[in-house]
Amino acid sequence: MLVDCGWDTADTLEALEGHTRALDIQLGDIRHLVITHIHPDHYGLAGRLREMSKAELSFHRLERLYIESRYANADGLLGEMHEWLRLNGTPADELDKLNFGSMGILNRVRIAFPDHTLDGGEEIPCGRFAFRVIWTPGHSAGHVCLYDERHKILLSGDHVLPHITPSVGLHVRSPSNPLADYMDSLVLIGRLEAELVMPGHGEPFQGLPERTDALLAHHERRLVEIVELLGARPGLSMTGYEIASRMNWSSRRTWDDLSGFERRLAVTEALAHIELLHDRGQVRKSFADGEIKYFVPDPATV
Ligand SMILES: [Zn+2]
Ligand SMILES: [Zn+2]
Repeated sequence: MLVDCGWDTADTLEALEGHTRALDIQLGDIRHLVITHIHPDHYGLAGRLREMSKAELSFHRLERLYIESRYANADGLLGEMHEWLRLNGTPADELDKLNFGSMGILNRVRIAFPDHTLDGGEEIPCGRFAFRVIWTPGHSAGHVCLYDERHKILLSGDHVLPHITPSVGLHVRSPSNPLADYMDSLVLIGRLEAELVMPGHGEPFQGLPERTDALLAHHERRLVEIVELLGARPGLSMTGYEIASRMNWSSRRTWDDLSGFERRLAVTEALAHIELLHDRGQVRKSFADGEIKYFVPDPATV
């Protein structure tokens, strides 16, 4: 069984072949390919691998829904995303830069539809291991982690990473409140008694509850940062783009240093936080002059 497979590029395939050779098996021996979520760096090679190995492919049913719009019919999504970025305050001269920022990845994905869709709760046997599928929406709507309870091993995909904060963004076809989903999923996963976490990026690590706590604390700080920005003076209201451009994204780089793709990620991440604040009643939303704006409610009216 292989969990996640990387981009559809020659060097990814070569690296994977090297790793399987070291285990004394060939790519053709893979019988089951499980994908934690269909981001191109986890799923891109799935179509090619299935041709090479006849492996059965499994991923969550919600990820299956996104294949069509993300990869097979990307033009429709681009049009919707363009309008949505505009509604959220992206300046006209930046719209194309933000919208097309992720198009380069399309040629690194060979799509494949799953043989089995997962819902969470299934047990996937693999030799002396048995992995339970845990649905962990947030980073992606149908993200799953795999947990072997007996060996206390968690395959965490992009849900929990050792050094970087997984991106959680609200975009045009997101579920309603992805950051709330993500934080709930962190609490759920943080309760596991995993002794070893094998993430989708970086080295295996220990200390799962400390890491999930740190990620939760990071998002709470971001929520406070936004409330402070919006509450700087009475009557202030800002679009998602304006809020994103005033948030802190890096200790070394300013908003001007960010590429179109990075700015788009920043806008979607800011909006995920704003949506959660909106849900908690800490931020309100208005529609004026063709744009969505956010503000902190006047304490006298709460
Ligand atoms: Zn991802
Ligand atoms: Zn990833």
